[in-house]
Formats: sequence, C-alpha cells, structure tokens
Amino acid sequence: MRAAFAKAPFNIEVRDVPEPKPKTGEVLVRIGACGVCGTDVHVAEKQATADFMSLGHEIGGTVVELGSGVDGILVGDRVAVENSSPCGFCEPCENGDPERCESFLHLNDQPGMAEYIAAPARSIVRAGDMEFEEIALAEPLTVALHVTTTAAIPFESDVIVMGPGPIGLMAVKVARRMGARKIFLAGRSHSRARLQLGADLEADEIIEVDKEDLVSAVLRRCPLGVHRAIVTSPPQTLPDVFRLMKYGGIVAFIGIDWGGEQVISFDVNEFHFKKLQLRASHAVPNSFFPMALDMIRRKEIDPQRFVSHRYPLSRAAEAVKTAAFDKENAVKVMVNCLE
Ligand SMILES: [Zn+2]
Ligand SMILES: [Zn+2]
Repeated sequence: MRAAFAKAPFNIEVRDVPEPKPKTGEVLVRIGACGVCGTDVHVAEKQATADFMSLGHEIGGTVVELGSGVDGILVGDRVAVENSSPCGFCEPCENGDPERCESFLHLNDQPGMAEYIAAPARSIVRAGDMEFEEIALAEPLTVALHVTTTAAIPFESDVIVMGPGPIGLMAVKVARRMGARKIFLAGRSHSRARLQLGADLEADEIIEVDKEDLVSAVLRRCPLGVHRAIVTSPPQTLPDVFRLMKYGGIVAFIGIDWGGEQVISFDVNEFHFKKLQLRASHAVPNSFFPMALDMIRRKEIDPQRFVSHRYPLSRAAEAVKTAAFDKENAVKVMVNCLE
C-alpha cells in the first residue's frame, strides 16, 4: 500500500509499504481521508531529524477486515480512528478516570496518510453515513473540546483564543456554545482565511498581533482583563497572555515546540498576585470522539468552511507544504487516501 513519510526539512515521500494485518482485537480500516495537522508540519519541518517519520493521524475510513475477538463493529462501517484510547483495565481506568490511563492503546506510529491502518477495536468510533473528510475533522475537534473544557469557561465570561489554526477556530465555536460573553481571536494578519472564518464563527474581536499590541488591544476593550485564555499559539506568547488575564483567570495551553523555543520566562509575582492558573491540555488518550462527530454531523463545525484544500495521497508532499506555507489561504488541508 502507499503511505506518506517525512524527514526534516520537508523531504516528503509516498512509499510502497506492506499492508498491515489486524491482530487479535484489532480491525483493518481502509482510510478514506486524512487531515494534515500542525503536528505533521512540525514533523516535516523540524522534528524528523534522524530518520523519516510517519505522517497523519486525523483519520476517516471504512472497516474492511476484523481481527479475531472483535465484537460490535462490522465490515463496511464508516469509522473514525482514535490515536490513543484508554485501556479500560489499569488502576485509573478502573477508578473511573480514563483520562489518566497508564497504559493507553495507540497506533504504533502507523501513518494515517496511507491506504490502510490496523487499529485496536477500542479505538474505533462508528460514524454512520458521514463523509470521510467529515469524519477526519473529528480528531482536531476532540483536541479543541479538550482544551476548551480544560479552560472550564463559565457562562458570560470573556475569553481569548490565541492562534487561529483549526483547533483555535473550533475552540472559538466551542467557547461560544459554552456561554462565553466576549471572544477575542488573536493571530497574525497573514492568516487571512483563518481570521475570516474566526469572524464568521462569531469571534467578537479579531486582533492581528503583528499590527497591534496584543495586551493593550485586549485591555482597551476589557480593562480588567479576560477570565479565560485558550492558547494554541507558541509558548513565547504565554507571558503576554498572563498580562491580559483578569484576577483569578485560567489559561489552558496546548502547545509544543520542537524548535528549541520551549523554555520561557515570565513574572511569577504577577502570576501569584493575580491568582492565575496555567493548565496543560494534552488530548491523550482521546476522548470526545462521539461528541465531535455529532457536532460535525449537525454542521456546528461545517466541513465546507474548514477544508480549504484537497490533495490525493500521491500528492501528500504538496498537501503538507500547503499547510506549512500557504498562510493566507490554508485552513484545513485534507488528503484523499482513495486517490
Ligand atoms: Zn493533530
Ligand atoms: Zn487504562
């Protein structure tokens, strides 16, 4: 089968590799569509230094084969594939806290930008008759749901979303649904399509951080600061975020940096006296897939607005480069794995 791999910087290959075989408790999925994530861009740009790494984890497909011992899933089911799933048997899982699972199941670095993937049956979420690219959008939405619920947005609170990537944009929508009063969306002005979509998703104020000072732009409209921040932007933006938070505010952070800029410094006195909280969001093991699929099915998150580019698997290199370099037009780039 064909599958996509990358080595930094941007050396992307679609190779012929052996088709995976489903083991006991696994199913084989024919992948229909796979979204390009910021993580794939990171891998291709910076992370895969030593050797090639696999690409793709936002997967929609069809079950084509069942390993032994699989119940409740049928050949022909359209499904989403979780990247990681609670084991169900470890101490935290048995104590009703699967979020802290100590031995979660995962996909063993198999590429999702590929024709087939073998996945644990526990990682399969049935998706009815949804289109493959609709199903593939569920994964980033689960990440947005995780970071937004981590921020625990109270009704009628003011919120800033840092970074207008697909996860930030989805977080705008989720924050609105959770009852936010005023929502700021901050991003760079070159992200034109993304900022426009943010405005369409009812972000109240768009702040172009390369054109105006972020902190004063927020404090001009909310003099005491905002109650909640959802930070999908690089770690270096955190000190400014602390400055624009209201007393007692909560900052939910989803971010990772492979470029050596993961160490930051900030004023701990301000952090202390403002009684701020910084919370990490890391959606592993995955949760929220059924909710995400349902929101997409109801067009709360509209795939037609989010998917800006489509490429066949044979052109996976262009897909990843479009996500990396077409800052003006790219929102979510989708790879069609059937072509
Ligand atoms: Zn991702
Ligand atoms: Zn577990």
